[in-house]
Amino acid sequence: MRKLLVAVLGVALLGGAAAAQMAAPQLVDAPAAGAQAPGTVVGPLEMYFIDTEGGQSVLLVSPAIGPYGTRDTFLIDPGNLNPPGRDAERIIAALKDAGVPERIDYMIVSHYHGDHVGGAAALADKVTIRRVYDPGAVTPELNANREAGFMSYLPVRNILPVSIPKPGQKIPVQGLDVTVVSVAGDLLKTPLNGVRRGANAQCNNPMRQIQDNTPNNAESIGVVVEFGKFRYLDLADLTWNQEIELVCPNNLLGEVQLYRTTRHGTQWSGSPALVHSTKPRVAVMNNNPTKGGVALTFKTLKSSPGLEDVWQLHWSDNPGAMNSAENMVANFTKDDPGHFIKVTARNDGSMTVKNGRNGFTKEYPVGGRTPVVTSSK
Ligand SMILES: [Zn+2]
Repeated sequence: MRKLLVAVLGVALLGGAAAAQMAAPQLVDAPAAGAQAPGTVVGPLEMYFIDTEGGQSVLLVSPAIGPYGTRDTFLIDPGNLNPPGRDAERIIAALKDAGVPERIDYMIVSHYHGDHVGGAAALADKVTIRRVYDPGAVTPELNANREAGFMSYLPVRNILPVSIPKPGQKIPVQGLDVTVVSVAGDLLKTPLNGVRRGANAQCNNPMRQIQDNTPNNAESIGVVVEFGKFRYLDLADLTWNQEIELVCPNNLLGEVQLYRTTRHGTQWSGSPALVHSTKPRVAVMNNNPTKGGVALTFKTLKSSPGLEDVWQLHWSDNPGAMNSAENMVANFTKDDPGHFIKVTARNDGSMTVKNGRNGFTKEYPVGGRTPVVTSSK
């Protein structure tokens, strides 16, 4: 009798999946018999900061079962164009480490510089990519070195389902609340849910910058990812002045536990107004030995209220770099094998960070500072 009931439930689940498949023909993987229902939370949020040698690629594996019967995979940028296929292999290694199918359910192409979009074609060759979000029209930079990544993306863009989001739009990763806060030069104008509008003390004449001539960075898709009390900020390569607009005069983003240093930790982003307003507990820097990881970024991070640690994808050789302890640095040379940094985040706001190179882990328990989402006064 019990067996029969299980069998009937299994058939019911399969029936639901089959109906969903008919409604949405792009679905390929039907959940296995007895799979857990979509929406079921089955674990923490797992995040892999993948070493793309100075590019960007962050893989998030959802805490909940998605519509395909497994946890959703959400990739923020597929990394560098060259050497061909390297970063796709590193992304696939992270998928394997997480024990999920080799498939990307949602992928952001934050902007069209080769260190962010360049890996898209190689990745699309190897895995199914179900939905892409990008900024739409391209802003030419009249620099051949900057076009190659975008040109390699165009053929796959023509065959992938692509959405161009608006600020405030959600990316429907199961079990997470993912909000777009910047795209194609447009910025969020109203506070995120739960963030109360209030004057921000960090906005007392914040230093602004004359930006370098890389207008495509200003188009970056930025997101805030929430899982219960856990909050993560990723603005790709958004510019310094745009960062200030997101937190001044009102902090529209609220506070976060985890921040990926904007634009690799170079001096062109990572304004003190942004970092000190969002008050991350942990920062992860997607630098390489000489790109990013500059003295100014370290200074801003280390003076940020409540910041406990900076984890680095690479040791920085830049003058004045205040590198973290070696256990919090994943790679040391340009020809490294590409170790990742993994963050396991729980909905109580706690997290564990692990160095993929040597397995060193550090706990950030709930007892630490939890973000104040409701006020920026
Ligand atoms: Zn970049």
